Amino acid sequence: MIPIAKPIIGKEEEEAILEVIASGQLVQGPKVREFEAQFAKLCGVEHAIATSSGTTALHIAMLAHGIGNDDEVITTPFSFIASANCALYVGARPVFVDIEPDYYTIDPAKIEQKITKKTKAIVPVHLYGQSCDMDAILDISKKYGLTIIEDACQAHGAKYKGQAVGSFGTACFSLYATKNITTIEGGMIVTNDADIAEKARLLRNHGSPQTYQHVILGYNMRMVDLSAAIGLVQLKKLQEWNSIRRANAEYLNARLSKVDGLITPKIRSNSEHVFHQYTIRIKERDLAVQKLKERGIGVGIHYPTPIHKQPLYQQLGYADSLPVSETASKEVLSLPIHPSVTKSDLDQIVDTLSNL
Ligand SMILES: *Cc1c(COP(=O)(O)O)cnc(C)c1O
Repeated sequence: MIPIAKPIIGKEEEEAILEVIASGQLVQGPKVREFEAQFAKLCGVEHAIATSSGTTALHIAMLAHGIGNDDEVITTPFSFIASANCALYVGARPVFVDIEPDYYTIDPAKIEQKITKKTKAIVPVHLYGQSCDMDAILDISKKYGLTIIEDACQAHGAKYKGQAVGSFGTACFSLYATKNITTIEGGMIVTNDADIAEKARLLRNHGSPQTYQHVILGYNMRMVDLSAAIGLVQLKKLQEWNSIRRANAEYLNARLSKVDGLITPKIRSNSEHVFHQYTIRIKERDLAVQKLKERGIGVGIHYPTPIHKQPLYQQLGYADSLPVSETASKEVLSLPIHPSVTKSDLDQIVDTLSNL
């Protein structure tokens, strides 16, 4: 069996956890602070604030930027639901803009027509580990004075024109078990804005600058030191793991690009893809899924239903037509390329898809 994702958590992580337990400093302690400092370095930013998940990171980022009732937040419908739900959490309305067919990320050419007086922010999602078209998005954000909150939950270590994703605005990462690096559950907010960082720290911990003093309405969205200890070990391996993902993706691209009826992922020029997912497009998807499963090859569909078509959003009255996303959701298929996948596994994938 070749799973679609496989967290790599070994001896070094185990020892790091035991050390934390022995230390007695378990929640938002020294390991969390060290992990935040290292993560800020990865993104080349001033501040990092660890949270309990990518979802809570996005929720806090919305609140820290003062986004709330009656505001509109522009984002992509072709993502995990949290990318849009974070706007709903704070009483704002997600407004969906269709994607670029080659890269599956928000199409900057379609953003301006969705901007209104109520628009406050853009949430670009660096989908599958590849940066959005940030130059175009930044131009729009400057022209209209909009906040950028990057959903970098799939893009640890990815770059755009040499600049780390996460450094273009306030950004959120997920450290869930299946991401390129993990703390099991966990998240991170990164920013160069000291005020936003301070607000985020308060929001994460009951609005509390010191014990039992509460200056704003906050939450419990803290990270535990056991998670941070795992994250510190994982962070050291990120570059190596990302290189393996990239090499596996190149191997598949070279072989699968010759197969009829199948489109391999495109890499944006001047960008560094970290292949959280290796996602092809294939018309005969059902057959491909069946054949791959028969050979014990795990697959994923990211995502089978665009967010505006989800029952929750239908109940909220969304009736958008976003054809590029809707077509992609019927054709995309993610194949295993994580660091534990072997050459022989990749050859099996190629063989199966070449003989459908
Ligand atoms: C994983 C993910 C999230 C949510 O992160 P969690 O840690 O699972 O809460 C948000 N957005 C995207 C694009 C993701 O892939």
